[in-house]
Amino acid sequence: MGKYQAPRGMRDLLPAEMAVFQRVEALADELAARYGYRSIETPLVEDAGVFERAIGGATDVVEKELFRVVTPGDEKPKWAMRPEATAGIVRAYVEHGMQTWPQPVRFSSFGPMFRYDRPQAGRYREFWQWNVEAIGDAGPAVDAEIIELGLRWLREAGAGDVQVHLNSIGDANCRPAYVAALGDYLADFTDRLPATERARASISPLRVLDSKEPALAAVIAAAPDITEYLCDACRAHFEGVQAHLAIVGIEGRPAPRLVRGLDYYTRTAFEYYVVGAEGTQQALGGGGRYDGLVELLGGRPTPGIGFAMGVDRVVTLVAASSPPELAVPVAFVVGADPAATDLRFRIATELRTAGIAASAELGVRKLARQLEAADRDGAHFAVVVGDELEAGQVQLRDLQAGTQKLVNAADLAKEIDRASRTHHHG
Ligand code: AMP
Repeated sequence: MGKYQAPRGMRDLLPAEMAVFQRVEALADELAARYGYRSIETPLVEDAGVFERAIGGATDVVEKELFRVVTPGDEKPKWAMRPEATAGIVRAYVEHGMQTWPQPVRFSSFGPMFRYDRPQAGRYREFWQWNVEAIGDAGPAVDAEIIELGLRWLREAGAGDVQVHLNSIGDANCRPAYVAALGDYLADFTDRLPATERARASISPLRVLDSKEPALAAVIAAAPDITEYLCDACRAHFEGVQAHLAIVGIEGRPAPRLVRGLDYYTRTAFEYYVVGAEGTQQALGGGGRYDGLVELLGGRPTPGIGFAMGVDRVVTLVAASSPPELAVPVAFVVGADPAATDLRFRIATELRTAGIAASAELGVRKLARQLEAADRDGAHFAVVVGDELEAGQVQLRDLQAGTQKLVNAADLAKEIDRASRTHHHG
């Protein structure tokens, strides 16, 4: 029989990687709470229309990368796996009437996203994001709050020397003039554009700037600069964001070619990069303002801003600089009688009840083998169950110090607790 493998572009997160993953997730949760962003979960699957409407038809994410879901009885796939979190969160905001809550509503969400992309290094079909959104505040101070939060997470997680790239992509007022100018500029290069980019250049020239096509790098670099087209309101907003960032010591790197791939973005757009790795196209995360999205999904006009952090990429960076530490039991219960699995199981359960991380040898094997297992697991103590149990006692062996003493089984948890607090072994 053939063996199964994980789907292409998807992968198993094994315990060593999960140890790092959980560390960065715990940090995200802790920071979200510290900054007043409350947890939200939305379904992994939504009506495909949520993404088609929110993200826009002429994008890779909707044209090529949506994992559509066919359910029994449907002829055409009606649903899709979420490729990003914002659309679903805004759908929930509208559905639950959150515009009547005190504004802005601040959300944090951590979970998997799905894009049917061509798998390559750092690009998966299932990947994880940490998403933060603030809906109902037109900024610019809240833009700075979110940008600073993302930067703090990356730095505290240990992603290295990270910088934020910053741009404003204008709004419905001023962007059309820029898009027209960009369209004119791109028209001169029509024959150099690959087929998809050529189609896009006529529908939405802005998206060409977002292209990852290496052949286009020079064309994009010489394109007109959006900053010169911003209207007064957008310019004031952009300056406001920079001023608020400066107050907390953050200088965004100007990135006039930075546009977001998704249709609903307005004004502030940003991306995080490791300094020196800008050319790799491997942003650690990014985000921006989406002042038109709530209305697009059926709500009242409401501004919003958020970021999406690429957890997989951050985990890779963090794991490379600080090796994962797997959780180890404090105590490992072994016994002189190989067959007495019931006693070892009972004592481990009692220790766990007392709050001590304990494992036990549940297989039937010789004491020497059991002690090897305790060692291999990295336990600090071995609890050796032997004849002394008849007198209510067990041996407590400090595997790191190499010492051993008889203790009352009734006091075992307390003894372990005390010993692990008084000894500090390397
Ligand atoms: P986006 O919503 O495309 O701007 O993605 C935000 C962040 O998620 C990116 O900066 C990446 O770090 C991460 N990301 C996006 N797509 C993928 C993918 N296919 N695989 C892994 N990480 C991704």
